[in-house]
Amino acid sequence: AFEVFAAWRPAANTAIGISQAAAADPSPDKVDLSVGAYRTEEGRELILGAVREAQRRLEADPATNHEYLGHGGNPRFCRLAAELALGAGSAALAEGRVASIQGVSGTGSLWVGAAFLSRYYRRSRVALLSAPSWPLHDLMMERAGLELRRYRYYDETTRGLDYEGMLEDLRAAPQGTILVLQGCGHNPTGVDPTPQQWQGILAAAQERQLFVFMDNAYQGFVCDLEEDAAAVRLFVDAGLELLVAQSFSKSMGLYGERVGALHLVAASADVARGAEAALQELIVPMYATPPKYGAAIATTILADPQLRQQWQRELAELPGSMLRRRQQLYDALQEVGVPGSWEHILKQRGMFSYTGLTEAQCGHLMERWHVYLTPDGRISLTGLTGPRCRYVAEAFKDAIL
Ligand code: PLP
Repeated sequence: AFEVFAAWRPAANTAIGISQAAAADPSPDKVDLSVGAYRTEEGRELILGAVREAQRRLEADPATNHEYLGHGGNPRFCRLAAELALGAGSAALAEGRVASIQGVSGTGSLWVGAAFLSRYYRRSRVALLSAPSWPLHDLMMERAGLELRRYRYYDETTRGLDYEGMLEDLRAAPQGTILVLQGCGHNPTGVDPTPQQWQGILAAAQERQLFVFMDNAYQGFVCDLEEDAAAVRLFVDAGLELLVAQSFSKSMGLYGERVGALHLVAASADVARGAEAALQELIVPMYATPPKYGAAIATTILADPQLRQQWQRELAELPGSMLRRRQQLYDALQEVGVPGSWEHILKQRGMFSYTGLTEAQCGHLMERWHVYLTPDGRISLTGLTGPRCRYVAEAFKDAIL
């Protein structure tokens, strides 16, 4: 029945596929810039002290058990996560207009959101995605049976935002179109709108009555917890109905524990109540209930003022570290004399930079230099350590010349 698989090979060009290829490469020269997880400036994995302390407390707590969660996950986690995303003083929360479920991290939350829209959103079957977007957005929207269209986003010439093009495309979208946005730290480009530009995007969304699906996987990872939530809160506070997918992979370093949430900000408390039940019904045949442990860690941290402060202090170190690595790479590119302008490395934000390298150049970097990156030229700054910047710059030079 499955002859097709005899010639089937695993897709090797996903970020995780490339990272696995890097891990299997025995070369002492290798540099993995495809990695989607934080690495310290010494190149090590990071477990936050607040996470370790939460684990210790959970282990010591006699009430800790391995019973099932409900379909919507841990309700305390959902509430704390919603407060983190929308702000503890959010009017939408106070009015009971937010339906929340615990998802299987950001990816699983996005997928439940896509399934929800596919099944219950009646105004449009079109999902409008940034050009380019995180490849999983494309995959999910398509597999949820929605029609993909693009809005202009990344400007090749400035290696920044094509704001005018973006607005034009939003204003030309059919009424009610689903608009997928990233709240901060845009993956793969590292290009985010300014606060003023967000105002313009909101106005266009209101004008065309677009339904916003906001992916905010990097809250706290780009600037800080408040600023990185500003775009989400702008849309919520303007009274729009929207979906928000949230992840604790980056902000708490809980990648493999799969901690995230999906929030539907609805027009009324009645709608939110029913929608929460509908979201849970969607989850039943998918995986029935989400994993428990990571959400328990996040809840322990968020609910305890002292632990929460410790987490915030630790988290606040990470954006600065990524900015330092941008600067180190930029300096190395200048020193080595790599042709072209590299200012965009400094201007782009978050974990990723869109270098502008072509697919052929990326292939050369991997084969000749053991420098691993996704074929779209995206690098993860956290894969860089200071001492390897010069090597990477020399590799870039060789690939370009
Ligand atoms: N959304 C974007 C744009 C991402 O880059 C990621 C992670 O790389 C996610 C969502 C979700 O990640 P996770 O499933 O680990 O929460």
